[in-house]
Amino acid sequence: MKSFGYTISKDRQIDFDKADRRIANYVKTHEPSFNICMSCGTCTATCSAGNFAEINLRKIMLLVKRGEISGIREEIAQCMFCGKCSLACPRGVNTRNVILKINQALEKFSI
Ligand code: SF4
Ligand code: SF4
Repeated sequence: MKSFGYTISKDRQIDFDKADRRIANYVKTHEPSFNICMSCGTCTATCSAGNFAEINLRKIMLLVKRGEISGIREEIAQCMFCGKCSLACPRGVNTRNVILKINQALEKFSI
């Protein structure tokens, strides 16, 4: 059979009953604007640290919501807390506080 170079992607279904949603729930409670993110990526595009390090805030927030939190701590440690993403967000998400609350939740739940 001829190969066209395509492969079947890994199954990306998420079982929310099994996902670790502790961080998402903590952030939602302490920074409600976390809920109105539309994953546009403006924060990531304007991130000061993004030019020098591997940090993608849009992806971090999406993964936290999905409960896929492995590697979050290392990535979020790259943030300089400059707050530029908060100024750029078209939905008014307090992204800097979201990052702070994710950090607090990581400590609180010893993740
Ligand atoms: S800029 Fe705002 S709405 Fe867009 S992905 Fe970032 S936090 Fe979400
Ligand atoms: S606060 Fe952090 S995530 Fe936001 S622009 Fe600054 S370095 Fe990037």
